[in-house]
Amino acid sequence: MRALPQLEAQRTSLETCVFCPKLCRSACPVSNAEPRETLTPWGKMTHAWMAAHGDVPVDRSHAAPAWACTSCYACREACDHKNVVADTLLEARDALARKGVAPDGATRVIAGFAKHDVETRVATRELAFHPGVDAASSEGLLIGCSYVRAAPREARDAIEAASAIAGKKVALAEGCCGLPLLLAGDREGFARHARAFAASVERYERVTVVDAGCALTLRRRYESAGISLRPAIELLVERAARALGAMRPVPYTAGPVRWHDPCQLGRGLGVYEAPRAVLERALGRAPDEFLEHREWSACSGAGGLLPSTMPEVAAGIAQARVDAHVREGAGRLVTACASSLLALRRNASASGIAVDDLVTWLARGFGNPGPL
Ligand code: SF4
Ligand code: SF4
Repeated sequence: MRALPQLEAQRTSLETCVFCPKLCRSACPVSNAEPRETLTPWGKMTHAWMAAHGDVPVDRSHAAPAWACTSCYACREACDHKNVVADTLLEARDALARKGVAPDGATRVIAGFAKHDVETRVATRELAFHPGVDAASSEGLLIGCSYVRAAPREARDAIEAASAIAGKKVALAEGCCGLPLLLAGDREGFARHARAFAASVERYERVTVVDAGCALTLRRRYESAGISLRPAIELLVERAARALGAMRPVPYTAGPVRWHDPCQLGRGLGVYEAPRAVLERALGRAPDEFLEHREWSACSGAGGLLPSTMPEVAAGIAQARVDAHVREGAGRLVTACASSLLALRRNASASGIAVDDLVTWLARGFGNPGPL
């Protein structure tokens, strides 16, 4: 690994793919949307391996495939070795970004992160007037930057649901968890930011997290970066599933209500039952399913910074998921991740499909009843 010695630690993972007959090739949403051999999991890992070996130049063109990944973990499910391609590619992103060959979209994310964090804090403070919020509470709530900045209705629903489930007011954890830096290829910047974020939530007894991407970051990626968190980290949907007895039905009889397993919640954190239990309690019946569901759920294209580095491919992946929803009977589409909510909503609006976040159902079931 003379050209990128940092990737020596990833040698086994990289070489497992390089010498593999591409058993996962049909699993990858990116190479399915943009059918190029380079964009299959095998192609991305082989490019990183060849760049590390000095077999191809370390330039932008050879670096780009490392960012052509939504971190959806679908290839891991299809892989006999359970090779975690997404995490190895994050290490490759960092090694390549250090050489100055990250794609423009990733460089912009790194350069704009401080502003993004400040804007997230400002947007979070605007929610502090919600009656479910008390800044002095020991019950922390991390809503997630994409909800706070781009889905304010769902952010308010999250406060309503979290305070009702906790039985007390919540304090809002401010700022971004730092995941965009890691996805862009700035591992050091991520670790620096994560240490500051960990210190900012130290006073809480517990932090309930709404977005699965943030939860996976706090539970796993902080630990990998050697950062420990004092409060317990809980997912809102899991707390809701433990409190189902207190949840009112949310009547809806106008057609199917189909659950989309977000990649970070399902394959990332292994949480498949809790959202289904919540929807079943709300509807009085099991939610409708995609043909591709649970471990085999299709990605919405919104993860891994793909919308920043390959926006058209990301939109194509989201459209394919919406098309599958329409083909399989349409109705309401429900997810539990801000990135997939926004991507699916953007692509579903032309078909008149309503896309909800599960927090809205939780707010109606645990908080004030009202229309979806
Ligand atoms: S993830 Fe597994 S199946 Fe896919 S190319 Fe790598 S080793 Fe092969
Ligand atoms: S994690 Fe998902 S997007 Fe990334 S290479 Fe694997 S299947 Fe493709």
